[in-house]
Amino acid sequence: MTHPSYLAAIDIGGTKVTASLASKEGILVKLYQPIHLEGNQESIPKQVHNLIKESCRLSQVNPQNISALGISTASPFQKKGPHRVVVAPNLCHGIASPSSLQKNNWKEIPLESYLQANYPQLKMDNDCIAAVKAESLFGEAQGIHNFVYVTWSTGIGMGCMVDGQILHGKNGNAGHGGHIYLSEEDSNCFCGQSGDLESLVAGPVIARKYHSEATTKDVFQAFRQREKKAQKIIHRASHFFARGLASINNLLDTQLFILGGSVFLKNQDILLPLIEKEFQESFSVLSQGVQVKGTSLGTYLGDIAAYSLVLPPTWIQEWQKSKPWQKAPQAITIN
Ligand SMILES: [Zn+2]
Repeated sequence: MTHPSYLAAIDIGGTKVTASLASKEGILVKLYQPIHLEGNQESIPKQVHNLIKESCRLSQVNPQNISALGISTASPFQKKGPHRVVVAPNLCHGIASPSSLQKNNWKEIPLESYLQANYPQLKMDNDCIAAVKAESLFGEAQGIHNFVYVTWSTGIGMGCMVDGQILHGKNGNAGHGGHIYLSEEDSNCFCGQSGDLESLVAGPVIARKYHSEATTKDVFQAFRQREKKAQKIIHRASHFFARGLASINNLLDTQLFILGGSVFLKNQDILLPLIEKEFQESFSVLSQGVQVKGTSLGTYLGDIAAYSLVLPPTWIQEWQKSKPWQKAPQAITIN
């Protein structure tokens, strides 16, 4: 078997796309761009393709030498013919989004079919399922057979390993724990439900509850200045988040929760103690001894997750030793 010379990795979230290129020796370049949510439903596939071309240009790699592309993306997916389309409610606003939040009327994104022609090997997985793979190969979960990765960001997502198996489900949608019902509160989610975990705690929700013009960062800043309203909002969000974890633990009997996502990673010092305290107050027979910790792969988790989908075994061994994310170049922002 011949080994690939270069791999490309794409990470698609609710607000950004990152692209990176790697050789066996390490990550060559990383690009970051706000996600294109306007135009037709091929906007994001085109954006991805252009970012990979730009990555190649900047690192002087011939695009034809990319032998595999790993895509870690917000989902769910649906089957459409031989491909899966992305039907992520925070990207496809035509699914169920409240009209005030809509930037497009897409009902699906043909990511796989659009990109497949250009890459000999393409693997796409839900971002949190890909993160489970990354954590089990390179992160906090090496050697652990029961754990759940949870992202707290623009949305809430989860990926689960149970008894050493990564859970995928029939369409690769296992772990959409952001849409579990938690409350009768009339809080609207992009998915069309109200009172689900994401509708109660996602970054933009925290911001909106504080002030119609506020950012999530503003709320945490106010929290740090002991501002009462911000404290109440963040305590409440942590309360629901921990209840979400407890519900997942009651279902899966897990050993470890690894947390990531921009809201969590930027405010880990505030959120982790609040979550741990609340989580330990859940059904103690089941919650006892379960660990909750932040990812050690930091802002490179999304990239490593996408690479993990297509890494050849010899690269895995090499990367476990060399930890290329620790010496990866800073992301270049493209507007
Ligand atoms: Zn939802």
